[in-house]
Amino acid sequence: MIYNIHYDICAVVISLFTIYYMFAEKGFKKNANKFFLGMVLCELISSFLDIFSSIVNSRIGQYSYFVRDFSNYLFLGVHNATPFIFVLYILYLLGIDKRMKKRHFFFLSIPLVVTLTALALNPVFRWVFYYDTDGIYSHGLLFAVLYVDAFLYMLLAIELIARFHGALPKSKSYPLLLFIALSLIPILVQMYIPHILIELFFQALGILGVMLSIENEDEVINHITGLYNRYLFMNDVGTAVKSGNNLHILTIKLPITSYYNANLGVQYMNSMMRQMALWLSGLNGEIFCYDCEGGNFALVSYTCSEEKMWDLAQQVRKRFEDAWYYKNLGMVFPAQICILKMPAEICTIEQLLMIIDAPFADQQSESQIVDSNEFDSYRRNMLIEQKMKEALKKHTFQVWYQPIWDREKGKIHSAEALLRLIDDELGFISPEEFIPVAEKNGLIIELGEYVLEEVCRFYVDNNLGELGIEFIEVNLSLVQCANRKLAGSIDKIMKKYGISPDKINLEITESAAANNQFAIKDTVMELSKRGFSLSLDDYGTGYSNFSHMFEMPFSIIKLDKSILWSAMDPKNSSGSKNARLLLESTIMMMQKMNYYIVVEGVETEVQKQLLEKLGCDYLQGYYFAKPLPAKSFLEYVERFNLAQ
Ligand code: C2E
Ligand code: MG
Ligand code: MG
Repeated sequence: MIYNIHYDICAVVISLFTIYYMFAEKGFKKNANKFFLGMVLCELISSFLDIFSSIVNSRIGQYSYFVRDFSNYLFLGVHNATPFIFVLYILYLLGIDKRMKKRHFFFLSIPLVVTLTALALNPVFRWVFYYDTDGIYSHGLLFAVLYVDAFLYMLLAIELIARFHGALPKSKSYPLLLFIALSLIPILVQMYIPHILIELFFQALGILGVMLSIENEDEVINHITGLYNRYLFMNDVGTAVKSGNNLHILTIKLPITSYYNANLGVQYMNSMMRQMALWLSGLNGEIFCYDCEGGNFALVSYTCSEEKMWDLAQQVRKRFEDAWYYKNLGMVFPAQICILKMPAEICTIEQLLMIIDAPFADQQSESQIVDSNEFDSYRRNMLIEQKMKEALKKHTFQVWYQPIWDREKGKIHSAEALLRLIDDELGFISPEEFIPVAEKNGLIIELGEYVLEEVCRFYVDNNLGELGIEFIEVNLSLVQCANRKLAGSIDKIMKKYGISPDKINLEITESAAANNQFAIKDTVMELSKRGFSLSLDDYGTGYSNFSHMFEMPFSIIKLDKSILWSAMDPKNSSGSKNARLLLESTIMMMQKMNYYIVVEGVETEVQKQLLEKLGCDYLQGYYFAKPLPAKSFLEYVERFNLAQ
């Protein structure tokens, strides 16, 4: 028979290209990469041997039986090793190898051992292949063993991909399944057209697909440090946890901020980071080193004991106590090192990233190994996030109201709406705690709509106007103001309840207004155009940029309680002369500029008297009332306003 070897030649070219690419990318850091290389080498050698043996087998009489035997045995042996290596590749890709015992590997190798034994005995029994009386190469009775062996491994591979589908993203599992299909289908085709050798060509295409989608290192390398990047870190850790592994992660957090980049220069910083990366990847032990960006490195180990991790942590701490040099300029970067156990301490990749991205402790000036409890505040935030989602779903957030007193009329003329989260398990959670979490995860938009809707319903249902309440003050956070859809969504709610904008005053904190005027100005202007009045909240806590402040259409300035309290402490009515002067002149100055003044945090009669003397327009504080649930607020206002 004359064989068509053109497809085999293409398979050789594809395999060579794949090997070149892997060497160029230096992509054999992990065992899985090494097994992939093993598959490509098998493919290359089999393709060569297939070409060689088909030439030798077709030219009967030209080559001795020894040469023919040699090429056939070598081809069949190497070719049949590919499915076995492929299964190992998947096991290592999933990280299951760490949990496998020697006996598991022994059982796994049985089909291959049977095949190799059949081949080894073939010179005696000629059960696998033989040469007929005309010297033609023919399949023997046991040739099917070779197919069964390959099918068994491919079935096992499919089973693994299906069982751990949660651990392998589709971008990985599909190319693996394609490789299996491209390896099996041509075998069936070749049964009918045995002289066209397409099997290895299709397998090479499958390998190319796996390389481009799984082994392509370009996407997973940080090009500055040369380490694996954050994307791969998330992928690897996610896969390992989902396939049931226990791992240790050593996080290394450095105070690398834009400050360093700006002052030392990007080139200097890049060089420092490269040196650190090089040093970290040289550490002894079965660890994988990742650059998680933003001055965060992570060392991941699937096998190291806790003692070994501590030993590594000590080595890192010691090294980071010394300087890193670039062109004789040395710099010490104190590292914050932490050992985390997954999934024992941290179950999800989101929690892990939250810890990795936690800000560097400012007060830390030397390298330290910190306890993972240090990150408790992050865990609490995560719990709060969950509680907020539950409360939104069950509608259990409450809006309380704190009365605001009008000095001239001596009555309650407005109120500030304050959000309350009271959880069965955690009790009262302060808005100071949950609002920043909501701002970070975007829930604040939903919360803002919730509050406004509650306020509108409350206003309409209780005819607050008749009780003397002119408007309700609603807090807006920076994130809400930066949302371009804010004005539209507020409008929609107001229309739903038939409330005019003058019944709502929107409060924006000073720090948000002063530092982010570009982000919020459009929204603020739009709201003002639609008829809402605006307050500048917590005045005195930020660093007001007056020029920006004056550009915004605020009508009320709310002085922060800290200004009042330093002028007159609620506990003992003491206060510095300068603070009192500041309070007095601020009120006077703002009023001259036509702003109304609200002073927050009025707790005592003497404070009230002082503010009355200074001509402050409105007073808010515990002296009048703490924030009250809706019903209590109504009773309070009825008593206060109607009694006079
Ligand atoms: P804020 O807008 O400055 O609200 C005033 C805070 O001061 C309230 O704290 C109030 O209970 C407290 N306060 C008022 N008078 C006194 C007093 O005499 N003594 C003392 N010690 N405290 C007084 P609260 O309710 O804990 O709210 C804290 C912050 O959380 C608010 O500060 C506001 O920035 C934010 N917040 C509350 N509710 C919302 C909301 O619905 N949306 C948004 N975006 N933020 C909210
Ligand atoms: Mg406020
Ligand atoms: Mg305030």
